[in-house]
Amino acid sequence: MTGTTLFSLLIFALGLTIGSFLNVCIFRLPQGQSIVWPHSYCPFCRASLRWYHNIPVASFVFLRARCSFCGQPIPLRYPLVELITGLLFLLVFLRFGFQWATPVYWLFVSILVTISFIDLDHRIIPDVISLPGVGAGFLLSFLIPWLSWLDSLLGVLIGGGLLYAVAVAYKLLRKVDGMGGGDIKLLAMIGAFLGWKAVFPVIFISSAVGCLIGIPLMLFRGGDPQLALPFGPFLALGALVYLLYGRILIQWYVDCFL
Ligand SMILES: [Zn+2]
Repeated sequence: MTGTTLFSLLIFALGLTIGSFLNVCIFRLPQGQSIVWPHSYCPFCRASLRWYHNIPVASFVFLRARCSFCGQPIPLRYPLVELITGLLFLLVFLRFGFQWATPVYWLFVSILVTISFIDLDHRIIPDVISLPGVGAGFLLSFLIPWLSWLDSLLGVLIGGGLLYAVAVAYKLLRKVDGMGGGDIKLLAMIGAFLGWKAVFPVIFISSAVGCLIGIPLMLFRGGDPQLALPFGPFLALGALVYLLYGRILIQWYVDCFL
């Protein structure tokens, strides 16, 4: 086994473990509970989990997707969040390698995963995540050689400002709130981590994927706007695509159209 393969496996395992912690954040943050205390427990019978109930993915498999105390099924969501986080940690490492950018973007993808699943569950993006995220993205830009602090600051202003303008225009035209305040702060945070140049491509990718998935779903479910998908997970997906494949996509765009 080569050094890089061994390292990749370790990093995948690190991502699975962080994903396990993100499950706790996704479950507890919207309820205003502490994420460090108490120890992990079953949401049905509230029995404290032992360490061997808590091994990412593996526990789900050997417990055969059931709580060992009360027998309630464990949602597939838990190992899924762990696998997604593991995979994203690995992709970030393969893209950026041994640089400060790698741990910075591990933090970024962890925040995006947490926000996406909370938004899917509750239709909110908690300020306790997005606002510190804006500050962290700006401060950590000093560790990214190709991102100046000014790029990051402009990313916050353009990302936040642009969606704010869309929200105001939508409200004026339709007299209802379309874009949530949470989406505005999320795009400000994405701008802080990725810089202002990322803002337009991220909105483009998010909207394109949103239409591709959202329109058939709307038609299928009868077009009730109450059933509309939250936009947060699409913004997160757009940011991830830009982070990992932005360079390739921009090159492809230049080759094809310019
Ligand atoms: Zn239980």
